Amino acid sequence: MPNGGLSRLHLDSIASLSDGDIIYLLELAQYYAASLKAGKKIEKHLAGRTQINLFFETSTRTNSSFELAGKKLGADIIKLPIQSSSVQKGENLRDTVQTLAAMGADALIVRHREEGVIRFMAEALSEVGLPCAVINAGEGTKGHPTQALLDALTLLNHFGRTPQQGLKGLRMTICGDIRHSRVAASNAELMTRLGAELRFVGPAHMLPDEDFYPAISRGNGLKQGLAGADIVMALRIQLERMEDGPGLSNQDYFQGWGLSHQTMQYAKPGALIMHPGPINRGVEIDGTLADDRNHSLILDQVAMGVPTRMAVLDAFLSE
Ligand code: ASP
Repeated sequence: MPNGGLSRLHLDSIASLSDGDIIYLLELAQYYAASLKAGKKIEKHLAGRTQINLFFETSTRTNSSFELAGKKLGADIIKLPIQSSSVQKGENLRDTVQTLAAMGADALIVRHREEGVIRFMAEALSEVGLPCAVINAGEGTKGHPTQALLDALTLLNHFGRTPQQGLKGLRMTICGDIRHSRVAASNAELMTRLGAELRFVGPAHMLPDEDFYPAISRGNGLKQGLAGADIVMALRIQLERMEDGPGLSNQDYFQGWGLSHQTMQYAKPGALIMHPGPINRGVEIDGTLADDRNHSLILDQVAMGVPTRMAVLDAFLSE
């Protein structure tokens, strides 16, 4: 089992992690992935620790895998049902967070639409001196660090590399609504730090402003965007973050930007496809490509969510 420690109390973003933190988390995730695969007994490192999942936005994969991960490590877990909580009676976020920590929560796993919420909660806890970790499980468009970590773990395991070896020599294109995607934001940072070469491609109004990512190249159209890619990451159009809608029909989107066996021919032969889910078949990706296990890592990503979140919980919560 990898030894180490973290330089921080909360998981705010990939940018907030040191290189050492990233290596340690990925080594731990690889260790847990191998242990789960081999059916080894998992030590209950989090016995007696309390994890509260606080999801203000919908989730299938992240919420369930954080719960599964905590259970495998022996934590006590509560999933706070926001719809029937005092949030509906007008309780503010600061009071909610301080209340849960006062009850003895050791970690709050938080998903929220507003950017800055993780830092705000961390400050609310330090104001009252409660040592509870706040873990980002998806924050507005700002970041989704555990998704990027599980994506990196998926690739490291697929290519048989250690976190120290990283992803040097691999080219990844992120395709679609990058502007509104927290997954793209966290992956842009993490994949680059692991040595991969990144490119963005998508409709102009769905690309981030140039100055946000000066070092990442942009493809002009799908053909050029996918050229030479070893890995293509598809993204869903984040309709819930677009006040004026996507500006084109699903058919037109698929026509211009959809990933299929046909359009994947622009990439390197045998290129891999990834997607954080949920997928919209026939919009950003063709269903037969998504289901083609020769190319698609989508279910591997889902599977890697559990060991990655075990690593995060272990690293941030173990005493
Ligand atoms: N599940 C991911 C997220 O929460 C991706 C998505 O929703 O498109 O950001």
